[in-house]
Amino acid sequence: MSTAELAPTGTTTPGPMDPALVHRLAALVTAAPGRPRQASHAPFDGALIGEVPACTAEDVAEAQRRARVAQADWAARSLAERRAVMLRYHDLVLERQEQVLDVTQAETGKARVSAFEELADVAMTARYYANTAARHLRPTRRQGALPLLTRTVQHHHPKGLVGVISPWNYPLTLAVSDAIPALLAGNGVVLKPDSQTPFTALMAVELLYEAGLPRDLFQVVTGAGSVLGTPLIEGVEYLMFTGSTATGRIIAEQCGRRLIGFSAELGGKNPMIVLADADLEKTVEGAVRACFANSGQLCISIERMYVEDAIYDRFVPAFVERVARMTLAAGTTWEAEMGSLVSRDQFDAVRAHVDDAVAKGARVLTGGRPRPDLGPLFYEPTVLEGVTEEMALCRDETFGPVVALTRVADAEEAIERANDTEYGLNASIWSSPRRGAEVATRIRTGTVNVNEAYAAAWASHDAPMGGMGNSGVGRRHGAEGILKYTEPQTVAVQRGLPIGPMPGLPLERYATVMTAGLKLLKRAPFLE
Ligand code: NAD
Repeated sequence: MSTAELAPTGTTTPGPMDPALVHRLAALVTAAPGRPRQASHAPFDGALIGEVPACTAEDVAEAQRRARVAQADWAARSLAERRAVMLRYHDLVLERQEQVLDVTQAETGKARVSAFEELADVAMTARYYANTAARHLRPTRRQGALPLLTRTVQHHHPKGLVGVISPWNYPLTLAVSDAIPALLAGNGVVLKPDSQTPFTALMAVELLYEAGLPRDLFQVVTGAGSVLGTPLIEGVEYLMFTGSTATGRIIAEQCGRRLIGFSAELGGKNPMIVLADADLEKTVEGAVRACFANSGQLCISIERMYVEDAIYDRFVPAFVERVARMTLAAGTTWEAEMGSLVSRDQFDAVRAHVDDAVAKGARVLTGGRPRPDLGPLFYEPTVLEGVTEEMALCRDETFGPVVALTRVADAEEAIERANDTEYGLNASIWSSPRRGAEVATRIRTGTVNVNEAYAAAWASHDAPMGGMGNSGVGRRHGAEGILKYTEPQTVAVQRGLPIGPMPGLPLERYATVMTAGLKLLKRAPFLE
């Protein structure tokens, strides 16, 4: 059953969003008149939110055509002008936060604090790239072929058009935060948000227009990824994808055939390591956020925890007691620490993982049950012990509020088990800062947080974020997160002597002179 089936049929009661807002946002989608509509529903109670067009390949082509025309003008504008748009956007997102949080919660069923986390991330990304784009993009002098005689400069040109395909779990920030550096670098963007959360993405884009972004430069198409993915990839110069590893492989193949660049931010089975010298109280609080923020529907959240023997019997009861006390609630007030799951599919997947583990002998220390009294898609935060290889959740991503605890002899065993996975997205280590930082470099994940769950590394926007192994290709954030949307170009101006043989110089003599010159250069590494 999909979430759609939860909706009361023939309802005339107002949905969780103002109909005028729903209408205004749906009108931002690039679609020919008369397209079929696709509905989205509120996870809290199944109420109808609204409908957006189910776009076609023709709509994608039209969106690309419009964005391409706008991009030529946008790329010719100064970086200062583009920066001013992003700084206004930063302020607008914060000013309008009540409405943005309402829409995000209506479509995802997440707790307000989790929606706020997304909103803050959008503001931070806009500020970071607005303030650093000039540094990342400016033409830079490079060591020339011949010292003093070759003046070599590296330029960064916009790719042209960037496609963004985003998921439902962080539908606000993942719809725009990867687009912000692409836009600052002079590109146009065509976004395809997940079918379950189009209104959150449209809200984020509407604020970009209000901040001064040319309307045609950022296009949105809505509908099924399986229908729109191929035409989107066919008409862009770069594709930014966030979603599952399975879809990431399909996209990688298509981008490969077209020889265009892509970034894929994919799934994870992220480990947490608790060593004996960890601060117990802080670790318990950190672990709660690490495992249950956004109801565990977070690519960088923790699903496996390795706890050193010497602290296991103190940590586990304290953690379980705290998880059992977590506040779960529907609604737009701030008291809930955890909200609903997003869809019936997601709910079924989480329940199937827990039921399979329990049937094969795992022990439930707390949670392990649906909570229909709170809403149709609520599931308790769940802590398991005794998880073994034959259980699906041992190695597969659950993407829900479930964590498996394992006792380990020491840090060496914890590191070995943490690295025993095909994924490599995020890890969290709790220990003294020094020891934690040492252990961190031995973990094969793109980000490692020491004495923090996930936010320290994610929100270090100046540093790259992404996955190793099956967790992804490429990085967002930092220099990598903007330069990937550019074509590097090397311009070398040669003065005086040519690089090849000089006119009139016998070729053998040329080789002798060059050999002597190369030997000399090796003795002058300071010139590199
Ligand atoms: P998904 O791959 O099913 O969907 C993601 C997006 O891809 C949606 O917009 C969907 O419509 C589109 N899509 C689906 N099939 C497509 C196709 N054939 N061609 C083109 N587009 C297609 O992912 P999901 O299950 O909805 O999202 C959850 C997954 O995303 C989890 O595995 C999670 O770990 C991952 N994720 C990763 C990050 C990260 O930064 N690494 C962040 C958030 C989520």
